[in-house]
Amino acid sequence: TTPKPPITATGDAVGFLPARNSYGKPITVIGTEAIRNGFDAICLQQALNSRGAPGVTDLVLNPDAHAGYGAPVGSVLVSPTHIYPGPVGVDMKCSMSLLQFDLPVEEIADKKVRRKLIEEICQRLPTGAGRGQSSLKHGRKISVDLGKQAVIEGASASVCAQLGIPPRWADRCEDSFHVAHDGSAGTLGERLEWLLHAGVVKNFDIKVNQLGSYGGGNHFGECEAVEVADNDRARAVADVFGLRHGKTAFLSHCGSRGLGNVLASGQFKALQAMFARWDIPLPGGDKELVYAPLGTPEADAYLDDLALGANFATVNHMLINAMVLEAFESVFPGIKGDLVYFISHNIARQEIVDNRPAWVHRKGATRAFPGGHHALKGTPFEATGHPILLPGNPRDGSAVMVADAGAALSCYSVNHGAGRAMGRKEAIRRLDQGTIDSEMHEHDILSNCRQYPKDEAPAAYKDFNEVLKSVALAGLASEVARLKARFVIKD
Ligand code: 5GP
Ligand code: MN
Ligand code: MN
Repeated sequence: TTPKPPITATGDAVGFLPARNSYGKPITVIGTEAIRNGFDAICLQQALNSRGAPGVTDLVLNPDAHAGYGAPVGSVLVSPTHIYPGPVGVDMKCSMSLLQFDLPVEEIADKKVRRKLIEEICQRLPTGAGRGQSSLKHGRKISVDLGKQAVIEGASASVCAQLGIPPRWADRCEDSFHVAHDGSAGTLGERLEWLLHAGVVKNFDIKVNQLGSYGGGNHFGECEAVEVADNDRARAVADVFGLRHGKTAFLSHCGSRGLGNVLASGQFKALQAMFARWDIPLPGGDKELVYAPLGTPEADAYLDDLALGANFATVNHMLINAMVLEAFESVFPGIKGDLVYFISHNIARQEIVDNRPAWVHRKGATRAFPGGHHALKGTPFEATGHPILLPGNPRDGSAVMVADAGAALSCYSVNHGAGRAMGRKEAIRRLDQGTIDSEMHEHDILSNCRQYPKDEAPAAYKDFNEVLKSVALAGLASEVARLKARFVIKD
């Protein structure tokens, strides 16, 4: 095993790791001592490689960090001059969304009611890798033309109207649409036609009909009981967010499905071929850290593909929420449901960092703008800060947080979940199926799976409470509500 570079603590839950050769700003590390000691050697190597990569001015390691593709999952990479596909990740705009119902949780206490809800949801939203949309409202399929419009425009008024998505939900998105590198949607249309013509994107009709589906593995839908934290600030913020204590909600986790995957892999291949042809040194010798300087045709192409994938993920989440609402309506006629927020944890966004525009790459990290942040002006969250949606695990729950002024320390970012403590293979080898299933039973959490997947069990992830404690102690964000799982829908 490789020795781990030492992290220097500067507070209860803050520390730093000097860049290689102590050159430039150190890596900011968020985490209690237990969390800091838990980072694996590969994760820290990846952080050092990323910090030392060309054009990188800031690197943050969050408490949920673990080894990823090139850069750690759970990291933030900032560059004013370069774009990095690895530190965005292969699932472009993998995101969380939360739908709040006016339904008291007592109404779903009965297991039979929850079984019925699972059935209604699964009928509308197929799970599993490669599976697509089967039963859109009125049994319609999504046409290729509408699919093109969706990936070019994102959740525009016209796209929402055609898919039965309430148009007001667009105001509840971190970003409801993404444009091309030159700021236009027209360029995205041209790029899409080129991708189809060149055969980079095959079977577009099948990919389009994955809109409104979770996909496999780590993605899930989860029915929640909302428990607003017992303090005045949390209650006031929860009100602005539209969170309702003691009522039912639904949390969704998924991304850009097959389309985003093909676009990301295409970009990795193209950039890696370029690096090989020109014999450009790879950051830390890692081909997963290929990059493109902004303003080059390579950077333009990547940004356009990211926008297409991100628009797909956006419409995917909006459609999923519309279908989940429809499923709940079928069991509870007249029920009201509204989107609390939709926020990504795999995306690069242009933001102002240290008074200049830069690309903030959040890879398994969530944006955290506090109240008064200039970018929230004109949004419903101008005064409070926007909702931060953090999945934990079904046993310990998930959290809704709100950023504090201290979030400036982490380039206005927090973690994206608990983060893996074990790889999938290790979890399958080490964890006991009986224990996992009886734990779900004890907590009265139902699931669509006959056996809960071992590699997705709570024990395969880090201690969520320790992760949240790290975020709060570091002064980045405060808990507004805990979400307690009532049933989980997984692959
Ligand atoms: P990702 O797979 O996007 O890297 O991680 C998302 C996060 O979701 C994980 O770090 C983990 O904490 C959380 N998570 C994974 N499975 C579940 C689940 O079934 N329910 C909840 N509430 N959280 C989960
Ligand atoms: Mn994700
Ligand atoms: Mn994902």
